[in-house]
Amino acid sequence: MASSQEQLVGHLSRRHFLGLVVVGAAASGVAPRLPVAASPRLAGQPALSDDPFTLGVASGEPHPDSVVLWTRLAPDPLAGGGMPDADVAVAYEVAADEGFADVVAQGTLDALPEHAHSIHLVVTGLEADRLYWYRFRAGGWDSPVGRTRTAPALGASVARLRFALASCQNWTGGYYTAYAAMADEDLDLVVHVGDYIYEGGGAGVRPHNGDEVFTLAEYRNRYALYKGDEHLRAVHQRFPFVATWDDHEVENNYAGDVSQDGITGPAWLERRAAAYKAWWEHLPVRMAPPTGPDLQIHRTLDWGGLARFCVLDTRQYRDTPVCLVGDGPVYPACPDLDDPTRSMLGADQEAWLAEQLRAGGVSWNVIAQSVVFARLQLFGGFNMDQWDGYVPARQRLLDVLADTSTPCPVVLSGDIHAAGHAALFADAADPTTPVVGTEFVCTAISSSTIGRSFGTTGLGAVLEATVPGLDYANADDNGYLLMTVTPEAVTGDFRVMSTVEQPTATVGTDASVTVTCAELGRGDTPPPPSTTTTTTSAASPVRATPRYTG
Ligand code: CA
Ligand code: FE
Repeated sequence: MASSQEQLVGHLSRRHFLGLVVVGAAASGVAPRLPVAASPRLAGQPALSDDPFTLGVASGEPHPDSVVLWTRLAPDPLAGGGMPDADVAVAYEVAADEGFADVVAQGTLDALPEHAHSIHLVVTGLEADRLYWYRFRAGGWDSPVGRTRTAPALGASVARLRFALASCQNWTGGYYTAYAAMADEDLDLVVHVGDYIYEGGGAGVRPHNGDEVFTLAEYRNRYALYKGDEHLRAVHQRFPFVATWDDHEVENNYAGDVSQDGITGPAWLERRAAAYKAWWEHLPVRMAPPTGPDLQIHRTLDWGGLARFCVLDTRQYRDTPVCLVGDGPVYPACPDLDDPTRSMLGADQEAWLAEQLRAGGVSWNVIAQSVVFARLQLFGGFNMDQWDGYVPARQRLLDVLADTSTPCPVVLSGDIHAAGHAALFADAADPTTPVVGTEFVCTAISSSTIGRSFGTTGLGAVLEATVPGLDYANADDNGYLLMTVTPEAVTGDFRVMSTVEQPTATVGTDASVTVTCAELGRGDTPPPPSTTTTTTSAASPVRATPRYTG
């Protein structure tokens, strides 16, 4: 724990600023209580005429002794932020109680114009497994009070972890009624697996602010539109996030160094750099900002001895798609699909992941990533944008999951705008092989579901009947997954909204699925006899498929 009074009340100037500022907290009750407004650094600052905290506050990536606090000063959020082109001091306070009687860390730091006046503050020296409250002050304005928490101590016995899984929040697809419901849940964490923004133009239920975005300024304004939503702000204010990205944070269906339209080279990488920078600026992530088109975001997050989250990046390093026919993403297979040199994660991330999964010390390995992992035949073909487009790479990961000396594997995914639960077979193509893992797929927060996109209902039941291992599917409803993890079992409650096409809605639970460690071949209890059907369905005839952009 690094804490001195100088650090607690001192000002973090530009020369200390690397984009991710680390400060220490005192033990609870030790820090001097200084009114934030009395900070000498703030006293010399000009007042801002409008509230700069329009995008709210957020926290993220809780460790046992630290958490990331975030805000961005933006009095004119949809037009570049409206801040002067200068450093602006922001005061922060972190307290052990909601009334800020017991302040454990406070000080000031600079919000910099080159980071859109966002701040990423890592507060260290905190106590494990407890709630904290935080707030900021800048330009004479107070931020809302955010609540966050720390993770349990490494290896600690944890009875229960509860988190929400979210993805795909296209503004034009609907209102964030799902976030309104999520804000009322009792959560430790929110896990976001991508499509936090959509890059396109368009109208729909709620119009985007302008056409497709390409530049840093345009991506910033797009994030500002989304983060202005009161329900998204409420969820960020209440729970820490851990986030990865998918394609739409940059461009639909891009793959590494190639755009969806096959564009490569400097123009594409410049766009990717702008998009990655804007993502960093707007999410409460524990990493230094990118300085170009690359940003390593794969990382782990431990929740005591209960769970290790391996947060993956399935976009930045993936090889160019193969077997593409026509302009839709659902394609028949072709021989290139068997090329073992092709990778979804890139060699470095793949090796890192295997090491993390084998490290042990937890009951569950939770793999948080963007695209569907299970084999999913859909409309007579496979979606080359999912793991179905990277068959040998998926099998290499399945081989690691099949090692029963590793913790119980749970894969989390989104992207497909439908919800589902699937068994993961030791051989993805052979449902007679043992079940070695389990996958929970969250539906879209607001993006048009497959059912809404295709103007149909009931596709989930068709998929359940035809896809081996898929025991629940819902392609109609928007919502999120409420996940509960105990040492013995993981449960997913599939939360569904009555509508996202109106500003208010009701929430319900469409299904609950529980999977025990024993069912995955782990633990002392022998796995139950397989109840998986060995019947494989005849492939549906290939239809002309609408362009579907998960
Ligand atoms: Ca996607
Ligand atoms: Fe999506």
